[in-house]
Amino acid sequence: MNGWMGTILRVDLTSRKVVKEVMPERWVHAFVGGRGLNARLLYDEVKAGTDPLGPENKLIIGVGPCNGTIVPGSQRFTVTFKSPITGHYGDSNSGGSFGAMLKYAGYDLIVIEGAADEPVYLWIDEDRVEIRSARHVWGRTTREASRAIMTELRDPNLSTIVIGPAGENLVRCASVIADLGRALGRAGVGAVFGSKKLKAIAVRGRKGVRVAYPEKLEAAVRDTYEAWNNNRAMYDLVAAYGPSRGQLRYGGMLADKNYRGGAPTGWFSMMSFENQSDRYVKTRACFSCSQGCDHLYVVTRGPFKGTYGEGIELSQPMDYGVRLGLYDFDAVLALGTIADEMGIDYFDSSALMAYACECFEKGLLTEKDTDGLRLEWGNQDVLPRLLTMIARREGIGDVLAEGLGRAPERIGKETQKYAMQTRGMTFAGRDPRSSKGWGLMYAVSSRGPCHVRAFLPESMPDTGWDVSLEGILKKYKDPKNRLLEEGKAELVYWYENLLAFKNSLEICLFTSDPWMFSPSAEPFSIPGLLARFYSATTGFDLSEAEVLHVGERIVNVERAFNVREGLTRKDDRLPERFLYEPMPDGFAKGEVVRLEPMLDEYYACRQWDKVTGFPTKRKLEELGLHEMAVDLETLGRLGVD
Ligand code: SF4
Repeated sequence: MNGWMGTILRVDLTSRKVVKEVMPERWVHAFVGGRGLNARLLYDEVKAGTDPLGPENKLIIGVGPCNGTIVPGSQRFTVTFKSPITGHYGDSNSGGSFGAMLKYAGYDLIVIEGAADEPVYLWIDEDRVEIRSARHVWGRTTREASRAIMTELRDPNLSTIVIGPAGENLVRCASVIADLGRALGRAGVGAVFGSKKLKAIAVRGRKGVRVAYPEKLEAAVRDTYEAWNNNRAMYDLVAAYGPSRGQLRYGGMLADKNYRGGAPTGWFSMMSFENQSDRYVKTRACFSCSQGCDHLYVVTRGPFKGTYGEGIELSQPMDYGVRLGLYDFDAVLALGTIADEMGIDYFDSSALMAYACECFEKGLLTEKDTDGLRLEWGNQDVLPRLLTMIARREGIGDVLAEGLGRAPERIGKETQKYAMQTRGMTFAGRDPRSSKGWGLMYAVSSRGPCHVRAFLPESMPDTGWDVSLEGILKKYKDPKNRLLEEGKAELVYWYENLLAFKNSLEICLFTSDPWMFSPSAEPFSIPGLLARFYSATTGFDLSEAEVLHVGERIVNVERAFNVREGLTRKDDRLPERFLYEPMPDGFAKGEVVRLEPMLDEYYACRQWDKVTGFPTKRKLEELGLHEMAVDLETLGRLGVD
């Protein structure tokens, strides 16, 4: 096969057996790779009712056909599993170099099943695969463990993914850290690693990837670079400062103190060029990317002197800053560093701390409950301690480690309204009352509320950028439209399908997103570009329409998995604060999310049952998912047309 390596690596940690299987060709055509293939396999191999932290859950790690080629940002990989946070479908993905290395080692997929009886790590050196003891790195931080493994294997250039103490302690929002600084943050992937006593995976590969039509692939890549050049100012800004310049525009959309406001005054000074430049060290790019949007930082003075890490421009200021009312940039970076070292998700851990702070403010948690910690907004002496307690399951941290869905059962039912979650998982640091399409996207996302399942351009207000590259987006040009519910279902539907395909190619979201390209001289079709990458690499022709059709198939597989687990329309929801408490400030002042009409429209676009939210037989059959239609029919969970 061109593009794919044709091999699945299956590792049983209980029996310590490693088997190589041939990748069935019909799967790759129907599901492409990475996210899509993983979802298909998860549906087949992880039965309904499986304990997410039991040995029957699986970790399916997938790359796509373009990984390891010259396609910009072609290095991502997805880990798929049943989520210990939501109890539904879960996946998490990352950049770095792991995805390309895995491909060069000769594999499209790794399936990890069972559970080891003592800590282990997996070493993949092309055809040689070993399950090794990890007793010496168990309990150590992600950085310490990665470096120890590289030293042991005598190769500082191999690629690693590693859990920290949070994953070992089965903290439900534990993350996995790739290549010392990139995070697979969402859905509790680190806890599933921990439940299998799998500390890390190290991989090294030197095999190439066979491309069907190298000249065609080169032409598609050249066109991508040209389109970037047509939007040079944006390219330079992202390269120099990361996506933070876009974040500056989020004033009015932020999660101020647990989403109680959207326009905190401290935001703009914290995000100033001066503040960032003062701590910036250098830029790091993922494999096969010329942008290098990731920026390394170091704190050189003050109480957090010596803190260092990467991602100064990303979610740290939004999550550990705004959510917690903390505007000391060094303290924010210190929290981000603790999270990366402990291996815990930024979004959920900061939302857990914000929930605890609001409970403390309301007197629903007291110093008696918190081992004497005064959980006040912006308290830079206490918040780093609280984060470590969650990762180590100490004191109140043990209760919070159970996640936003479960913690209120222990702390008190009256605190439920302060737990900002859907299906137990929290949101990105952007408030959907100021961006209605985001509200719908959060509510319906298959892996729990996710900001990059549809990544709507309306999240970038007042940019002046033309986001109407695709015909479907033309009618959404008015930037004020982010406050309207009408029409958002069609936009979410279209983007979800597009990104399901892109995630299955496993290429970076940023390197081929409309906002990187506009305003280009010529209209630039994103599905068309993805089709060119796919067709040139694999040799199989795919049209723009087929790109979206394959994406739709993948979204439906994930939905079928969730429906089989018991999900219904009532799980596609948002917290009361977004639905009933008007936004108190900023451009969206007075706004709430009117979710139900958007849901009706969305189900109509998807041709799902409006009452139950179940996929219909007609839709599943049309997408070639006959077995899933039979399964759901047997369970009485098939939608009515
Ligand atoms: S744009 Fe950023 S995240 Fe994407 S591939 Fe390049 S460096 Fe990695």
